[in-house]
Amino acid sequence: MLPAALPPPSAANAQNASADADYDFLLVGHGIAGALLGWELRRRGCRVLVYDAPRPDSASNVAAGLMNPVAGRRFALSWRAAELLPAAAAAYRTLEAELGQRFFFATPIFKVFGSAPEQQDILARGAARPWGDFVAELTEKDPQLPGLDAPFGGAWLRGGGYVAVRELLAALAAQGQAAGWLRAETFEWAHLVSDATGVAYAPGRVRAARVVCCEGAAAAHTPYFSWLPLTPNQGEVLDVRCPGLSAAQVLNRGAYVLPLGAGQFRVGATYRWPPFATGPTPEGEAELTGRLSALTGQPFEVVGRRAGVRPAVRDRRPLLGAHPAWPWLSFCGGYGSKGVMLAPRLAVLLADWLEGSGELWPEVDLKRYYSFYK
Ligand SMILES: Cc1cc2nc3c(=O)[nH]c(=O)nc-3n(C[C@H](O)[C@H](O)[C@H](O)COP(=O)(O)OP(=O)(O)OC[C@H]3O[C@@H](n4cnc5c(N)ncnc54)[C@H](O)[C@@H]3O)c2cc1C
Repeated sequence: MLPAALPPPSAANAQNASADADYDFLLVGHGIAGALLGWELRRRGCRVLVYDAPRPDSASNVAAGLMNPVAGRRFALSWRAAELLPAAAAAYRTLEAELGQRFFFATPIFKVFGSAPEQQDILARGAARPWGDFVAELTEKDPQLPGLDAPFGGAWLRGGGYVAVRELLAALAAQGQAAGWLRAETFEWAHLVSDATGVAYAPGRVRAARVVCCEGAAAAHTPYFSWLPLTPNQGEVLDVRCPGLSAAQVLNRGAYVLPLGAGQFRVGATYRWPPFATGPTPEGEAELTGRLSALTGQPFEVVGRRAGVRPAVRDRRPLLGAHPAWPWLSFCGGYGSKGVMLAPRLAVLLADWLEGSGELWPEVDLKRYYSFYK
């Protein structure tokens, strides 16, 4: 249901909203979803304006940035990994070249087997090569990496790595503020006035042909999209100093352990359902230090803690596409715990669709939830 504050489309509020819009797209949110979409649209020559209220605890600013092709307790191939990962690597490399800064670290991932039964299960499943080329090697032996306890061996994964998301977004935002395409402000949906084909936004006297909501978990409270089945969950990560631990790879068993350089690592992540804590918690820290201790006997010191809220979706698939009633309004998000891997390819998919040159994949199209809209 739209709140009373949002006027319905009418001739009265149409007033040049789209006839000669200042912008082709107005994006709300510059987390990894909005940032990659905005970048893609700008590359195509579109006039884009982004509103982003910067939050150090946004999911993207908290994320460890891992892109893992084979993950989870079931050790299953990630959804569309073969398509998403190369697209992500190419996009992040291009951004590095454009911004003159390194963000993407193509690092091997060592999935540590936790027990003999787990080892045997994965070795048996590996015979059918269900993970394609992403599993480089399965080993029953401890690889003898400095500081790591892996008596049951593990699986070496390739094709993944991690992205310094916070640094990437900061570099893009600095460029956006200098060039004028980013406003570090909260976008007030109540100040949006629409006709059937475009909008006028009063505070900045902005007119745009289309609006895309890229608000992350905050979209669950946005009047236009509160009907979507977003199921946000909170997560915590720790930064630790552990000079004795091997830094040549990402480690993964229960937690992931990413090398940050200079003997530091990021350890993540926890999952917590509402009610959310106001920030990092002692329980979160205890859970993550416990998981790190299961991987290494080396001494370590916690040097940082962060918490953020993931924009998860009931069916664990992203949400892209048009609002059922407002053709000028679209959605880009629902990336759950995989925004870094999803954002680049889905930005291209959505940009193609927004420009009328491609279809959305049915499993990401938010049409699948139109029956929820009243
Ligand atoms: C602890 C933790 C660890 C994680 N680790 C990983 C990982 O290793 N790999 C991975 O792929 N993913 C990870 N994730 C998930 C990842 O962070 C998300 O999938 C992704 O960041 C979601 O991006 P987003 O742009 O949709 O949302 P967000 O990052 O939340 O960005 C939304 C932005 O919109 C802004 N905004 C919202 N409303 C408004 C408004 N009205 N006006 C202006 N601005 C607005 C917000 O301030 C924010 O800047 C992790 C998440 C958490 C919490």
